[in-house]
Amino acid sequence: MPLVSRHLLGPGPTNPYPEATAGLAAPLLGHLDPGFLRVMDETCAMLREVWQTDNARTLPLSATGSAGMEAAFVNTVGEGDVVVVAVNGLFGERMCEVARRCGAEVVRVEHEWGQPVDVERVAAAHPAPTVVAIVHAETSTGVRSDVAALGRLKGEALLLVDAVTSIGGIELRADEWGVDIGYAGTQKCLGVPPGLAPFTISDRAFARRVETPRSWYLDLGLLGGYVGGTTGGARTYHHTAPTAMVASLHGGLRRILAEGLDAVWARHERAGRRLQEGLQELGLELFAAEGHRLPELTTVRVPDGVDAAAVRGELLTRYGIEIGAGAGRYADTVWRIGLMGPNADDDSVALVLAALRDVLR
Ligand code: PLP
Repeated sequence: MPLVSRHLLGPGPTNPYPEATAGLAAPLLGHLDPGFLRVMDETCAMLREVWQTDNARTLPLSATGSAGMEAAFVNTVGEGDVVVVAVNGLFGERMCEVARRCGAEVVRVEHEWGQPVDVERVAAAHPAPTVVAIVHAETSTGVRSDVAALGRLKGEALLLVDAVTSIGGIELRADEWGVDIGYAGTQKCLGVPPGLAPFTISDRAFARRVETPRSWYLDLGLLGGYVGGTTGGARTYHHTAPTAMVASLHGGLRRILAEGLDAVWARHERAGRRLQEGLQELGLELFAAEGHRLPELTTVRVPDGVDAAAVRGELLTRYGIEIGAGAGRYADTVWRIGLMGPNADDDSVALVLAALRDVLR
């Protein structure tokens, strides 16, 4: 048992909703127990709501967000297929590498870190790509990009979206925006511990999938026999689903939907705006481009002469607050502060601002 508890105000994981924690402590069920299959079906139904989709194939993959990314590409991209990737941070970079390993011809559309994706440039990058990929909320830079606009420009391509840091925190409308394949994670705005990757794929994308993906574990055709309720017949064993984690996700989703998606999005928006105002009042400069800042993940420039790691260390030891370092080449010059799930509230804003003011004095 860890002996300390933390205020997890970094880029994730966040502190879970109490209902998600309670799910972990529920009596453990087997992965084919009718009681558990009911929990799984309800979880898939609630995931459809948070994705805002009718996709039958909407399910929690038994692995973290990166496995969601692998599943997205390995099921839809074959040898020689053209994949256009919008790169405006670390996770766009990772998409390029995953697509390359699937045998894709990757067309990278580069952006300066801290800027949103230029969807027109992305749409014009290739005349007939198989897939166009974008990160909705770039956790490495704190920037939101316009998925809906890319959806309008995608043409015949499949639109593949990373929603790891957006789901359950900011507006996300998979069907309305034309998202064909989406993956996410549980440990950010859904307020559930890390371990599952909420995933959704449209019928159009499923019909165009790779027949025998290189990954057995992430083969959506095989997974459909167990989760997702897409076969209509008996549920057959595919892998031992992490039933406690699914129960935890079930608890977190129930909490979110009881509050209401619009209210949850508004709560994140309000908390993020207050934090960003407060940081600027402290004399700090924000990193992400104005007008495109995520409320749930704020990036701050480390002031000249300040030891970034020492400040994070003091926040942790004196206040029990975890914030994140910057990503990639910004590791020592940017901090990342998350207000996700239950932490998107006034108390967390006040706490982190007071602690930073004290440590920077
Ligand atoms: N995509 C984004 C935008 C992320 O922020 C992360 C994790 O922080 C991932 C993908 C990878 O998810 P995981 O670390 O759960 O594998």
